[in-house]
Amino acid sequence: MSLLKVNNLGKSFGGVKAVDGISFELKAGELLALIGPNGAGKSTTFNMVNGQLRADQGSIVFDGQELVGRKPRAIWRMGVGRTFQIAETFASLTVVENVQMALLSHDGRLFSMWRRASDHKRDEALALLEQVGMRAQADRPCSELAYGDVKRVELAIAMANSPKLLLMDEPTAGMAPKERNALMALTKQLVIDRGMAVLFTEHSMDVVFAYADRMIVLARGRLIAQGKPLEIRDHPKVQEVYFGSGKTFEKIAEKAAALHVGAAA
Ligand code: ADP
Ligand code: MG
Repeated sequence: MSLLKVNNLGKSFGGVKAVDGISFELKAGELLALIGPNGAGKSTTFNMVNGQLRADQGSIVFDGQELVGRKPRAIWRMGVGRTFQIAETFASLTVVENVQMALLSHDGRLFSMWRRASDHKRDEALALLEQVGMRAQADRPCSELAYGDVKRVELAIAMANSPKLLLMDEPTAGMAPKERNALMALTKQLVIDRGMAVLFTEHSMDVVFAYADRMIVLARGRLIAQGKPLEIRDHPKVQEVYFGSGKTFEKIAEKAAALHVGAAA
């Protein structure tokens, strides 16, 4: 059974159909990439799933329940997580404090309680940091971390809610290729360990090809293709609309295959 079932989903802004009747499904333990050129409707799709935008048409069934019409907080509580950038105000806090706050927030505790008990949830927070390879840096302020490490902490924060589905809109934006691969390898590991589902967008095709189990391709609000990376690679419509030329595309896929071998070793 699918964890997420999106059917005929649509959203317009003024006269523009940002998302135009798309349907797709996502299973637990699956890493699904949503790709497409700028303005294709990827972020709009994400924001309808997380409740920040209300769909004009269609339905989003998560874990057997309709999400359309629910508030973001309610959707988050049902187990739909998303990565947030660590706000500037929290950058002065340590790595572990940021994760502790996320854990307390999940429990619905008051923010002020945390101040009185700085060791609250610390062990749980450290365990999450261990999973993302940031245990050794737990007591450093987030403001001192390298960019790629901040992204790992953001992932740990998103995991504090124990999401069944994690939404990541351009998680590797601004990262160097090596950092990108490290973050996606880590995400893939979390998917395997926790049986979590992930829906993510990504510009770098080599990352998509190396890590996605399946992909869906949007162009001007429409879903033009879906399938396994190799099926997508050979899809004429995708090559035409998205990549422009098949030649470049072959090259990217080869590079990704090489990367994947490297990542697995
Ligand atoms: P992507 O994330 O794939 O780049 P978006 O979902 O952000 O695409 O945007 C899809 C289309 O919807 C674009 O034409 C964009 O200009 C438009 N759009 C997105 N958000 C808004 C908004 N809040 N108001 C008006 N138009 C929007
Ligand atoms: Mg976007």
